[in-house]
Amino acid sequence: MFPTRLIAAVLGGIVALVLVGAPSATAAPQRAAAQTTIYYDSTRAAELAPLVDEAAEIWNTRVTSVKLVKGPAGITVTTAQNGSAPGTASCVGCTRGQIYFYRNQIQQSGAAPLRVVVHEFGHILSLQHPPDIGNCDKVMAGGRCENAIPSAEEIAAVQRFWARGWRPAKPAPNPAEEREIFESPALVNR
Ligand SMILES: [Zn+2]
Repeated sequence: MFPTRLIAAVLGGIVALVLVGAPSATAAPQRAAAQTTIYYDSTRAAELAPLVDEAAEIWNTRVTSVKLVKGPAGITVTTAQNGSAPGTASCVGCTRGQIYFYRNQIQQSGAAPLRVVVHEFGHILSLQHPPDIGNCDKVMAGGRCENAIPSAEEIAAVQRFWARGWRPAKPAPNPAEEREIFESPALVNR
């Protein structure tokens, strides 16, 4: 029995070494191409923190090439009292940056708070504003709308962007533009 066990132990050790050793050389680039993780820190999002988690879940359940995960560094989310737009994101298509929400502007805009949160994450996830501002079917179109679920087109664009791997971040729309689109009237859906 003893030699058999010894051989089994030695073989087990070799298998363990192979399993531990293999991923460092070959698997890392494959993982990066398959899914990018973007960490978000909502510890300063105050009462909007649950909506931040909900917005992350809305995106996470619809795309597979990128995942929003709660954790330090990455995207910091802050809620403040007074600002120049309902929400702002510091970059478009980026894994590090800031999102700010302003209570006074969210109340004034008439847009649903969750829609604003999903919108700002939309910028982080690579989306810009579409030409049809006020189209409630698109979370990036602003408007005094309730809908917080991205359109099929928006979901596909995010999926494609991150599936292609890393690309440099773009500047985000300025606060004046962010304010203007959320104050735009909702387009009438026929
Ligand atoms: Zn925007």
